[in-house]
Amino acid sequence: MKINGYLLVVTFLSIAIYGCTNLQKNEDIVFQTSTISALLEGVYDGNVTYKDLKKHGDFGIGTFNNLDGEMIGLEGRFYQIKADGIAYSVLDSMKTPFAVVTFFKPDKALLLDKLANCKQLEQYLDNLLPTKNIIYAFKIKGNFKYIKTRSVPKQSKPYPPLIEVVKDQPTFEFNNVTGTIAGFWFPDYMEGVNVPGYHFHFITEDRKAGGHILDCQLHNGRIEIDYLSELFMALPENSEFYNADLTKKKTGELENVEK
Ligand code: ZN
Repeated sequence: MKINGYLLVVTFLSIAIYGCTNLQKNEDIVFQTSTISALLEGVYDGNVTYKDLKKHGDFGIGTFNNLDGEMIGLEGRFYQIKADGIAYSVLDSMKTPFAVVTFFKPDKALLLDKLANCKQLEQYLDNLLPTKNIIYAFKIKGNFKYIKTRSVPKQSKPYPPLIEVVKDQPTFEFNNVTGTIAGFWFPDYMEGVNVPGYHFHFITEDRKAGGHILDCQLHNGRIEIDYLSELFMALPENSEFYNADLTKKKTGELENVEK
């Protein structure tokens, strides 16, 4: 009886420890496929499916193979905002050449109750970050006076670089709209790996439209910030990625493409 009792305790403890480790792992890791510099170079095909991507996060942003639109993921649901501005549900079988996800669990949450444009919002967020040396995820559910987004049209081979694609990117404007921003902040020293600074995508509350944010005016909203200190990268195993020249610094190009 004694031995049985002892075994029971040990088993219970090991389950508890395993459970804890697992939880910590999932919550603090940013998982990303490929690099932003490869996307700039026109590496628009990856081999990670959304089914696999969802194992690494319930929240995120990114794009699709053939650069077929902007992706936003919230509460485990992923959406594809195509060049028509409409948000479609993402199928598990679809693949991504570039995506960033995490299991979103806020470390800090607060209400912002004053009119702020995107630049002011970013300055406000800057003051909330305890360090500029880790990664952050942001979820901002709010009422927007104005929001301007873009998407990117599906490309065919040979792929042009991203700077060429965005020259005639479709843009969309929303007035007095409720919706949610999902995005990340990456440190400057990660330039090339991801977008340094803020990178936000948007979806309306009815989950019907959205895109990559170019401009905004927030009325009020709830800001949630997730501090992230681990990064896992899955690099594409294809000849396009293998042969892409990722040695050049592309600060100016990135500014043009993402802002
Ligand atoms: Zn984007």
